[in-house]
Amino acid sequence: MRGSYYSFYQRASNGFREHPKLSGLGYVCSGGGLVAYTNVRPVGSVYADSAQSNIKRKKVVVLGTGWAGTSFLKNLKDPSLDVQVVSPSNYFAFTPLLPSVTVGTVEARSVVEPIRNIVKKKNLDVCFKEAECFKIDTVNQTVHCKSSQHTNEEFTVDYDFLVVAMGARANTFYTPGVVENAHFLKEVEDALKIRRSIIDCFERANLPSVSEEEKKRILHFVVVGGGPTGVEFAAELHDFLYDDLIKLYPDLKDYMMITLLEAGDHILNMFDKRITAFAEEKFQGDGIDVKTGSMVVKVSDKSISLKERATGETKDLPYGMVVWSTGIGTRPVVMDFMKQIGQGNRRVMATDEWLRVEGVPNVYALGDCATINQCRVMVYIAAIFSKADKNKTGMLNVADFNEVINDIIERYPQVELYLKSKKLKNLVELLQSDKDSRLNIEKFKSALSEVDSQMKSLPPTAQVAAQQGEYLAKCFNRMKECDENPEGPIRFRDSGRHRFKPFRYKHMGQFAPLGGEQTTAQLPGDWVSIGYSSQWLWYSVYASKLVSWRTRFLVIGDWGRRFVFGRDSSKI
Ligand code: FAD
Repeated sequence: MRGSYYSFYQRASNGFREHPKLSGLGYVCSGGGLVAYTNVRPVGSVYADSAQSNIKRKKVVVLGTGWAGTSFLKNLKDPSLDVQVVSPSNYFAFTPLLPSVTVGTVEARSVVEPIRNIVKKKNLDVCFKEAECFKIDTVNQTVHCKSSQHTNEEFTVDYDFLVVAMGARANTFYTPGVVENAHFLKEVEDALKIRRSIIDCFERANLPSVSEEEKKRILHFVVVGGGPTGVEFAAELHDFLYDDLIKLYPDLKDYMMITLLEAGDHILNMFDKRITAFAEEKFQGDGIDVKTGSMVVKVSDKSISLKERATGETKDLPYGMVVWSTGIGTRPVVMDFMKQIGQGNRRVMATDEWLRVEGVPNVYALGDCATINQCRVMVYIAAIFSKADKNKTGMLNVADFNEVINDIIERYPQVELYLKSKKLKNLVELLQSDKDSRLNIEKFKSALSEVDSQMKSLPPTAQVAAQQGEYLAKCFNRMKECDENPEGPIRFRDSGRHRFKPFRYKHMGQFAPLGGEQTTAQLPGDWVSIGYSSQWLWYSVYASKLVSWRTRFLVIGDWGRRFVFGRDSSKI
């Protein structure tokens, strides 16, 4: 991630083209000399008590302190900005370790860092408010917030630039009974509730009055969703049950059971086939019952109703605890905002490739709450084509085309990836596959549609969110370099080139821990690593990615404690 930024920055400083993301930001440097309106003494204020507090500075409001919001704050460097952060969590949580928190492999406090600790070391003017945004008013450039304290006090915060990084909520697909009866695994509180609930099941099953059948039901743990989170949780739960609890509750060992339900044909289906096959085999060997092709249609307080895709049959599965992990959905506040800005018919909020929310000025969205709208790019591609078509014949020769190819690839990174996958060196080769020496716009568009059909949106991961936060902060840091019109993705009329590069995701690989000190890793270049050695790679990567030295020490300490003493089963 850092490497990709470096190369970007170096290119940028050597006569680079400015970034259109800074469009609205440009006038920050030209404005000034007005009255300050910051009314709260900020955490890491460099302006408080100084004469400069009389200068009107641009207010940047950040909603959310998750991966995207925190990465934005960590990388922001411009001390002239007045930064207001609003989030119901006054900490950043390292979500990849939440499955470990559910069973006490690591403690909850080890994976969180107070947001004030993160920003206090920076030479920045940041003010944090523990509250939830419930409405964004783009007309008055104001966000409406409700305090997370019992008072539920409401207040508003004005913005010049708004960074929406509110993440997403668990998606239930409106399945009846899920919200009432299932656990989710999204937040630290969820992980703690699951931990208590597992121990609770064991203590209940251990009571003398409980029948055999009831013991079996209570100790049946069901995980819904065979994606990375569901699989990792099932693996952690298996290790907890069979490494630790079995020794403490020996009489209950024959009643314990874990079932993993997946509606698709395989678990971990976004991973390489070798990983999927290994995971399914390992879980089978561990006694985890993986039921693929099983769609949950209802969850009641003691049983789950399933529909088997192959037979169409519906079955009831008695359970003691169920964890629901089937992907993410849009938060209600974001949905309301989308309706307000004409995106009501979409499932996820759309931004352009510079992370600007479509249809509203000065608002940016990053992380799980938004997606980059690739379709829009086609419009610009047509414009690039028409610019290259100097004689307006609707046709391009190869020389004309070569002149704009870099613009296309820069604007449309999918093209490069697609060419790599087709083992072609350039777009001309792709378009000339039928031996025609000239290209027309229709042929050009149809080639790009093919590219589009092969491409997926960026996944909702911490990696994407963190890279977007870093990218946007760097755009804000350079806002002083902007002229009066830095925005506009492409300047067709003059150079035909972009002023700044759009956001580009760099995939660094993905892990799927499977328990028993075995992990699978899919690394860039389709390199797959499976087994014990990958587990050590996982330990080192996750330790290095933790947000602070404090959390790093705590997590490594927890891992060591677990090796020596096992996991703690106290129900606190
Ligand atoms: P979040 O990190 O969810 O942050 C959202 C923030 O917005 C939070 O601070 C929240 O309190 C705040 N907020 C919510 N509502 C409001 C509101 N109304 N007003 C203001 N603030 C609000 N990704 C990986 O890349 N690798 C992994 O190994 C991995 N493992 C995961 C394991 C688990 C258990 C989970 C749940 C996720 C995992 N992910 C992983 C995905 C990753 O956590 C998300 O993609 C990432 O958190 C998205 O970042 P975000 O900033 O968009 O949202």
